[in-house]
Amino acid sequence: MKDCIFCKIIKEEIPCKKVFENESVLAFYDIKPKARTHVLIVPKQHINQFSEIEEFSSDLIAQTMKSVAHVAKMLGLDHYKILVNNGAGSGQEVFHLHIHLISDQII
Ligand code: AMP
Repeated sequence: MKDCIFCKIIKEEIPCKKVFENESVLAFYDIKPKARTHVLIVPKQHINQFSEIEEFSSDLIAQTMKSVAHVAKMLGLDHYKILVNNGAGSGQEVFHLHIHLISDQII
């Protein structure tokens, strides 16, 4: 989607520190980390926010969630939190669905 910063990252128009990528999902380090490890897992298809996921393929949602576990394993994380902000009132700043993977574990 035009003017979406995460779509621009996915299209490589804006750089990111990539952690993982497959055909459906991109994961990269948050530019302003709120913990020792802070990665964002993003479906490549533009979804504005979590509350819209029923409109999208179950496979895409499953792939996104599985990628969170995959990235955590790749990074050697056993202890972490996952977080999704939904809507401006929750603190969502980027309106392209993303899952925060957050951990203070020393890796
Ligand atoms: P949220 O508040 O849930 O929408 O989270 C958006 C997150 O995206 C914030 O933690 C930002 O630090 C992060 N962010 C914004 N722009 C970039 C970027 N260009 N590269 C990496 N992370 C970003």
